[in-house]
Amino acid sequence: MMAYDDTNIFAKILRGEIPAYRVYEDDRTFAMLDIMPQSDGHTLVLPKSPAENLFDLDPDSATAVILSTQRVARAIQAAFSPDGMLLQQFNGTAAGQTVFHFHMHIVPRYENQPLRGHSRNMADSELLERHADKIRQALNDTA
Ligand code: 5GP
Repeated sequence: MMAYDDTNIFAKILRGEIPAYRVYEDDRTFAMLDIMPQSDGHTLVLPKSPAENLFDLDPDSATAVILSTQRVARAIQAAFSPDGMLLQQFNGTAAGQTVFHFHMHIVPRYENQPLRGHSRNMADSELLERHADKIRQALNDTA
């Protein structure tokens, strides 16, 4: 297995070298909007520890990621009222992984609305800022 490459974009975001539309953070995890969202509210949940994929995740980080995913998903549900929610994790290039720091996708699904492409089109920054605000607000309301 390849060693973790700490120059990947999410490692830079976690180090604060690149900005992100952060919606949630705790000791072990960080959640932000996907900047090429497949639907409104598409969010990524990352462990802070350097894991490239599922096989590298230590048990505490694995636990923390799923707990943060549930917490953030509840806030997205409150903020966007999607009809359903898809959790996705691309493990390895052949599976579609493009950023080699583990992350869980939370993809809200809306009836009669097909998903936009994976890692395809950058969303408008004002829209992302507004959506991040809505999720942060919902997290505050449910905290
Ligand atoms: P993967 O294919 O590795 O599961 O997905 C990587 C995801 O990260 C894609 O959905 C892509 O849109 C998103 N992404 C790529 N670069 C950035 C970035 O700089 N910031 C954020 N927030 N998301 C990114």
